Amino acid sequence: MKKTTITLPDGSAESYQSGTTAGEIVASRFGEALASAVAARVNGQVVDLDRPVNEDASIELIDISSAEGLGILRHSISHIMAQAVQDIFEGVKVTIGPSIEDGFYYDFEYANTFTPEDLQKIEERMRAIISADHPFVRREISRGEAVSFFEERGESYKVELINDLPNDVTRVSLYSQGSFVDLCRGPHIPSTGMIKAFKLLNVAGAYWRGDETNKMLQRIYGTGFATQEELDEYLRIVEEAKRRDHRRLGRELDLFQMNDEAGPGLVIFHPKGALLRTLIEDWERKEHLKRGYDIVMGPQILKVDLWRKSGHFDHYRENMYFTEVDEQPYGIKPMNCLAHMLIYKSKIRSYRDLPLRYFELGTVHRHEKTGVLHGLMRARQFTQDDAHILCTPEQLNAEIRAIADFVDYAMGVFGFPYEVELSTRPEDSIGTDADWDLATDALRLALRDNEIPYDVNEGDGAFYGPKIDFKLKDALGRKWQCATIQCDFTLPERFDLSYIGADGEKHRPVMLHRVILGAIERFMGVLIEHYAGAFPVWLSPVQATILTVTDKHIPHGEEVYSRLVEAGVRCERDFRNEKLGYKIREGQMQKVPYMLVIGDREMESGTVSPRERDGGKNLGSMGIDDFIATVREKCDRYA
Ligand SMILES: [Zn+2]
Ligand SMILES: [Zn+2]
Repeated sequence: MKKTTITLPDGSAESYQSGTTAGEIVASRFGEALASAVAARVNGQVVDLDRPVNEDASIELIDISSAEGLGILRHSISHIMAQAVQDIFEGVKVTIGPSIEDGFYYDFEYANTFTPEDLQKIEERMRAIISADHPFVRREISRGEAVSFFEERGESYKVELINDLPNDVTRVSLYSQGSFVDLCRGPHIPSTGMIKAFKLLNVAGAYWRGDETNKMLQRIYGTGFATQEELDEYLRIVEEAKRRDHRRLGRELDLFQMNDEAGPGLVIFHPKGALLRTLIEDWERKEHLKRGYDIVMGPQILKVDLWRKSGHFDHYRENMYFTEVDEQPYGIKPMNCLAHMLIYKSKIRSYRDLPLRYFELGTVHRHEKTGVLHGLMRARQFTQDDAHILCTPEQLNAEIRAIADFVDYAMGVFGFPYEVELSTRPEDSIGTDADWDLATDALRLALRDNEIPYDVNEGDGAFYGPKIDFKLKDALGRKWQCATIQCDFTLPERFDLSYIGADGEKHRPVMLHRVILGAIERFMGVLIEHYAGAFPVWLSPVQATILTVTDKHIPHGEEVYSRLVEAGVRCERDFRNEKLGYKIREGQMQKVPYMLVIGDREMESGTVSPRERDGGKNLGSMGIDDFIATVREKCDRYA
């Protein structure tokens, strides 16, 4: 009998009978760990635990609690869901059922629509399949056999998938649990009984292979976790996210609208939303001026020839909009870089002028597919807090570090923890290897010097250079892209930018593209959901609402209002002839930080009695100036 040498995760090597399964090998050494293992990695390849090992190999377990293990678990649940659906519903065809970020889905061809009651029935049937503890069994058959197998069963989508495989694929694998057989590469969990926690979430239409000329299928989404506690926590967050949805709060707080009459992906800011945005933009201008940036402004459309020169026309055209003026083609800007290049080029630059930091609250248009548009989070027109820094190669490190410090400060002001990723060269890119290496090293070194931990995202850079991405974490633990720093050696080349060095010679400056909050619209969406609409005092579009008890209190209400407005406190009047309780409830719905009720006592003593939003505490009677000082103190801390 042939023997194999197996290297285990603890580094020890042992000899096993050839054909011993990955699971048996691991069980012989790490018995307990096997209970929560869903698959194994044998010589780097992920396989089922019952796969025989016939050659020398290193073996690692994939645990159910790892991201990879969770993906295998969820994909396995999708097979069980497909089995349950075919058990219950006549004439349903199966297609594909991958695991995705937070769960899984399976697409079915079904003449009707699955209802919430149907989902309950499917879940029940799935529970029966799970408790029967069917093993997942893999077998390989020839391609021809597989085609006739699925043709016999009328599974035309599976037949299409097999026929589309590359010519050199001669065998395919099938997985079965109980009576259900699916075409699948695997791997799968050992048996259905391993599933402890799952839930079907919703149904959506989806075109076969995402192509709208194909048939519309029914997609059922679900999720699964290693434990019920984790599933419960996930479902709690999903519910909380619905409650905080910025599109819903945007309507309730009267911040903005999206209107199909105007066009999808286009935001219309109402007074309070526009005020919130203005507060953020004012903060931006002030903070940039403090850090040695120059504010600049470029045009919304620029000639197509200039977009050719920059490389955008070749690499970014699909996302751009075009127009024509006097028979001259123009591109509507998807990025703000070009005008900044022209500003730099407007005179001869010396090394003494550098670094130059051009900042623009730059509005851009990008063609996003209708399906991915999502309120403020993903719009077709948005405004970035964009800047381009032109410097000498020697200044690069200090500039990148200063930007990282700026991001850190900004995240502190808005109250977000964040994570950092470094993205390297993508396939579709321009520039030389040497430049890419130089730029990537510059970013890496700056992160090291600032002692910022980071992950590497291979191949996820921009087409013109590597980048650092900052991802903030909101109150629900969700991550959102905010700041980026992109290194670019190409644009200065294409625009032939230069400066005169200390040696009297012409040199090429290097360039950084960077944003701090990113798209202001999306940042606002994140803020709305993070705070659930209850913005801190310094960011609240309305900081105080003045409520009168009866009409005779209006004169004092007006007096308070004008004193507050004059002092820069953002406030609203509710002097309507309505019951006070009703007006207070409405104020609470609007999540205004302070409500000032004006009654007899306030009128006689010329005071206000603020009621705080957070905790609903009454601050007692105080002079108008004292209230102004209270609000100012809350704002000064941040701004
Ligand atoms: Zn599968
Ligand atoms: Zn740029």
